[in-house]
Amino acid sequence: MSSDKVAIITGSSRGIGAETAKLFAENGYAVCINYIANEAAAENVKNEILQKGGRCISVQADVSIAADVIRLFETVEAELGYVSALVNNAAVLKKQCSLVEISEERFAEILRVNVMSCFLCCKEAIKRMSTKNGGMGGVIVNVSSGASKSGSPNEYIDYAASKGAVDTLTRGLALEVAAEGIRVNAVRPGLIYTEMHASGGKPDRVDRLKSKIPMQRGGNPKEVAEAIFWLASD
Ligand code: NAP
Repeated sequence: MSSDKVAIITGSSRGIGAETAKLFAENGYAVCINYIANEAAAENVKNEILQKGGRCISVQADVSIAADVIRLFETVEAELGYVSALVNNAAVLKKQCSLVEISEERFAEILRVNVMSCFLCCKEAIKRMSTKNGGMGGVIVNVSSGASKSGSPNEYIDYAASKGAVDTLTRGLALEVAAEGIRVNAVRPGLIYTEMHASGGKPDRVDRLKSKIPMQRGGNPKEVAEAIFWLASD
């Protein structure tokens, strides 16, 4: 299995990120599994990739903190090589409620984890990838959400607003670095079966809402991983 290409997938210990890491590895990428707290889950993903003959490391880093992001990129470069793909997938959401029930602290945390992380990782990636700086180019895929369009009323307007920011950052950056050998895109998943819905206090959210989906079913993380991988492909 060739490993010329290296991908960092943030928040890849679980859910969509984990499936994305496995898919990149199956397609010859050396991958970095990133997580914030769940080391056991990250090790499981890493071991699954290693057992199939892939190249993989796991790095604990809070991607909303600049020093952690710099350490993440430096570790990956030293252990795997030139980073040619970045998937900004890590994000959190909090309990469902109305806007007036959201505290300033919660709003700030959601923006920090969901938007600052994307900004910081894009910055480190662009510094290295840009042909203007002597880099060899690369691809960035940001994981937004259908929430950026719906606004998530009575659920989590803070989360929806953070994904609106991710959409705008994606568009601006795509135009800014298009001539520097870097492609930037985003995916907006709908209702996907992951543990994230439990964080919102509704672990069965996908099944409760799936009748509103034309196909009458929720999505699985692998389907989102395939869209991310396609956007990262040549
Ligand atoms: P998930 O199952 O809750 O997993 C979240 C991942 O992010 C975990 O690996 C977690 O690490 C990591 N993480 C959280 N905060 C982090 C931080 N500060 N630094 C580093 N890693 C961090 O989430 P998911 O449902 O797969 O969602 C993945 C992406 O898809 C998110 O951007 C989400 O907004 C988006 N999305 C999901 C859905 C859906 O229906 N599930 C729909 C639309 C969009 P630990 O394991 O260490 O906690």
